[in-house]
Amino acid sequence: MINIFSKIKWFLKDEWKKYLLMIFLLLVIAFISLMPAKLLGLAIDTIVSFGVTNTSLLWIVSLMIALPVFRYGVSFLYNYILNVEAQKLTYLLRKKYLNHLFSMDSQFYETYTKGDLISRITNDLESTTTAATSLLEGIVFNFAIIVFAVLLMGFTISWPLTIVSVTIMPIGLTILNLIRFQKRKYVKRHLEIYADMTEKVLESVEGMKVIRAYVQEKEDLEKQYNAVDKDIESWRYIVKFENWFNPLFEVIYGIAYILAFSFGIYLIINQKITVGELITFVSYVGLLYGPIISISTVFSQINNATISVDRYDEIIKKEATVHDSVSSLPIIQFKNIDFKNVTFQYPFDKSPVIKNITFSIKYGETIGIVGPTGSGKSTLIRQLLREFNTTNGSIFIDGVSIEQYLIDDVRELVGYVPQAHMLFKKTVDENILIGNPRANLEQLDKAVKIADFEKDIIYLTDGYHTMVGEAGSTLSGGQKQRLSIARALVKDPEILILDDSLSAVDAKTEDTIIKHLKEYRKGKTNIIIAHRFSAIQDADQILVLEGGRITQRGTHEELLRVEGWYKQQYIQQITMK
Ligand code: ADP
Ligand code: MG
Repeated sequence: MINIFSKIKWFLKDEWKKYLLMIFLLLVIAFISLMPAKLLGLAIDTIVSFGVTNTSLLWIVSLMIALPVFRYGVSFLYNYILNVEAQKLTYLLRKKYLNHLFSMDSQFYETYTKGDLISRITNDLESTTTAATSLLEGIVFNFAIIVFAVLLMGFTISWPLTIVSVTIMPIGLTILNLIRFQKRKYVKRHLEIYADMTEKVLESVEGMKVIRAYVQEKEDLEKQYNAVDKDIESWRYIVKFENWFNPLFEVIYGIAYILAFSFGIYLIINQKITVGELITFVSYVGLLYGPIISISTVFSQINNATISVDRYDEIIKKEATVHDSVSSLPIIQFKNIDFKNVTFQYPFDKSPVIKNITFSIKYGETIGIVGPTGSGKSTLIRQLLREFNTTNGSIFIDGVSIEQYLIDDVRELVGYVPQAHMLFKKTVDENILIGNPRANLEQLDKAVKIADFEKDIIYLTDGYHTMVGEAGSTLSGGQKQRLSIARALVKDPEILILDDSLSAVDAKTEDTIIKHLKEYRKGKTNIIIAHRFSAIQDADQILVLEGGRITQRGTHEELLRVEGWYKQQYIQQITMK
């Protein structure tokens, strides 16, 4: 519990007054709950001693009515505050988590799966809130009942009777709880399996089209069933522990009852207590059952919640390896970018993907990058987006290492059209304007024109306002590519990067786009990764990447003069035409 609260210290710092009030209200409710049994005892004693008068009867009856009403009022207030606090905590935890996710770098996203991240913000977050609100209630309220009841039993009835009948409970309970504590490791395993199951469902939902197209429903369902089976199996271990627990406690409780009754009757015979008092006493023993069971349940829930809190906290504590510092420099313009001996290895790869790369980009140049698939072209160029830090070597912008600039400023320089498109379930223009939300219609039109997307807009049912399906599902591959290019262009970036962004358009459209780029992007920097050489043959500099190394560089003409991958591929491409 302390562990849980220490992790939401920031919340308690603001809310401690409300927490104190809640605890106070709980104590009041607990106290009131014990009063009816007391009243019953009093009533019986009054009847047994033939001392019933109209006044005493009226008193007892009005108290019996007033107590529940009062209790209702206090409970109402308490529940209201509790719910407000729970909502507030959930909201803040969620906000904090999402904020943190946005600050994380690619390395982080390579480490955690989507399903895992989602289960932490749903399942685990819920457990955390429950622990900080209802579990706290469980502890305070139930402890209060137990303590108040024991004190009342001892002071107003009989200490010997109390000690004889009540001591057995905590002893039995402690032993049982020690056994129960071992459950922890199963709970942890269960949460991991749950996250895994979430990931599998997510993957299947996302990949539904492919699954259907390849008639893999059965296999996929099989996979899902396995995940669910595993989930249930892991839950079974936990339930097994619970099943052990409850019947054993019943036994202990039965013993407590027998002790209370037999010793109580003995005390009545010896005129140490009255009949009414024994009835009150036995009612209290009965009343204790609920709270004692609840407390141990609460402890086991806290046990689970601690694991959830840790899982949530693990994410919050992760620091991005790519991050700004107080001394980070601003940048809005550049003259030169120098890659110096840049080597990069993905976090979970065994060997580097790009090796010892050195080249320069001058402002205003157009650079072409070609090479076989998997040679590291995308990886190389994405170094400019600061997704990861380089493994070795550095990239310098005007002589200063890229890592010393503000991350957002560096990204602001770049308009990147990724190889895999990321389209959102929004309208066409909203999707484009992600590149620059402040762009006016004229800028939007221009971007669309350069990307040769104009002709498609006319055919879309609502023009710019046509909804794009999830992940661009309502557009063709070529349309998606051109929309993505327009998105980068509307930003009018200092550096435009096309990462194989023309692969899905026909040769004629590609020519148009390249022609437009030459015209409208004159004077700005362009980096074009392409398969068709026609897209890059006018570049100021062409790099050939093979196996993560630059094997050739020069202009189109220069490269055609020497033997190598470039010339070979070029000949192949023109003879295929
Ligand atoms: P290209 O763009 O030239 O086709 P990439 O840069 O996409 O090449 O990929 C180069 C190599 O890096 C490939 O072998 C690919 O499997 C590997 N790779 C790409 N992305 C990742 C990643 N996120 N984690 C690990 N390996 C990756
Ligand atoms: Mg690529």
